[in-house]
Amino acid sequence: MSAPLHHRGVAALARALAAREVSAEEAARHFLGRMKAHQDLAAFVSVDEEATLAQARAADAALAAGKAGPLAGVPIAHKDIFVTTGWPSTAGSRMLADYRSPFDATVVRKLAGAGMVTLGKLSCDEFAMGSANENVAVPAAGLDAVSPVRNPWDRERVPGGSSGGSAVAVAAALAPAATGTDTGGSIRQPASFCGITGIKPTYGRASRYGMIAFASSLDQAGPMARSAEDCALLLSAMCGPDPDRDSTSLDVPAEDFSRQLHASLEGLRIGVPKEFVGEGVAPGVRAAIEAALAEYEKLGARRVEVSLPRTELSIPVYYILAAAEASSNLSRFDGVKFGHRAAQYKDLAEMYAKTRAEGFGDEVKRRIMIGTYVLSHGYYDAYYLQAQKVRRMIADDFQQAFRDCDVIAGPAAPTVAWKIGEHGGDPVADYLADVFTLPASLAGLPGMSVPCGFDGSMPVGLQLIGNYFGEAKLLNAAHRFQQATDWHRKTPEGF
Ligand code: GLN
Repeated sequence: MSAPLHHRGVAALARALAAREVSAEEAARHFLGRMKAHQDLAAFVSVDEEATLAQARAADAALAAGKAGPLAGVPIAHKDIFVTTGWPSTAGSRMLADYRSPFDATVVRKLAGAGMVTLGKLSCDEFAMGSANENVAVPAAGLDAVSPVRNPWDRERVPGGSSGGSAVAVAAALAPAATGTDTGGSIRQPASFCGITGIKPTYGRASRYGMIAFASSLDQAGPMARSAEDCALLLSAMCGPDPDRDSTSLDVPAEDFSRQLHASLEGLRIGVPKEFVGEGVAPGVRAAIEAALAEYEKLGARRVEVSLPRTELSIPVYYILAAAEASSNLSRFDGVKFGHRAAQYKDLAEMYAKTRAEGFGDEVKRRIMIGTYVLSHGYYDAYYLQAQKVRRMIADDFQQAFRDCDVIAGPAAPTVAWKIGEHGGDPVADYLADVFTLPASLAGLPGMSVPCGFDGSMPVGLQLIGNYFGEAKLLNAAHRFQQATDWHRKTPEGF
């Protein structure tokens, strides 16, 4: 007897669809039904059943004609930071509450080109700023009010952020896969909090075209799914140069990231930064990470200690640089070209001011103010320039560490998911929780999170960081671990 459709994953669904055991329309209807049944989780912000079914029927026609892409008919949902022609594109903000894009993001277009069917758009922190998905400002699909996204492992807890809706959709089996974006950890941390697998590739691998910009030197798209095997398939479809549309997209051809999934880990040197397993890590998280490292040793890997001495500095560095870039990127939302415009104003200056006061939420305003401050004359050298220098040193620290190891491992986050409201609106409490994801983001390195156990009832994610272009190796390390363990197969009760 085969598993229910929603527990099959991308690879298994693609096989079933290609063998015509199930149609794309059946698969789409199945997931649309689950999305509706579990809309109290608030994972989705927009759903359009007819638009989804139209794509599914097109996939069925392509399959029947033998002209289908490798992922034909497999459903996926997109973080609402990617613009899409069929669904509104809000970035979780009142500013863009009714915005419809005239084009699709490159990543969306590429996944559709591989035959994937869009299930809808997923909740996220406003403009991807947040670590808990509590900063979303638009209502969830089927719910009247704005609602925080709920973690299916414990509905009173956050799913992580900013790709919280993406992580919940996969963890609750409302979608076999989702896109996410990671500026400072927003793929890895929610994947960790929800017990799924996610990977952020090397900066520049995936096009940023049509990804609503937060901090352009850091923003990077990636897949979130149950397994490393699924992530490899998705990443292969998402990446590749986009020279005409994203000047920072790298001129490296698309790769088959599945090619070395099964390679042996014999002799692999796993570097564990001593700063990643110290005092600040919850004991239950540390225990799960230690057990995972022991498993790797059984698989033939060798554990070595490395150091990333500027780990803690990554917090101030990131929150200066990301805010600086955000303040510049978000200046485009002024009521003229995009989204919301205040209804009443007496002149142009007041139109700008009221539009932005009404359209942006508190966290976004905070970042714009910090960003404007650190870029201002007189403070630029003290903050922005200094942060740029330390960013370079953080990147150099990784290169030093990679002399002694092939892959770096540690926790994705110091704790498991916290309770909704637990940080009581204290933004710094959220910022501190990013300490283990920020360093790889600042260095532009690929990183992933792999389920590796539980602390109490909540999942723990093992973070794996590779050197530039090391995605295939990371996915290999994750896949072998998943062949030997079954943490990634655990599902929250009732899903
Ligand atoms: N939590 C970080 C922030 O709030 C990272 C967000 C992200 O990666 N998009 O900026």
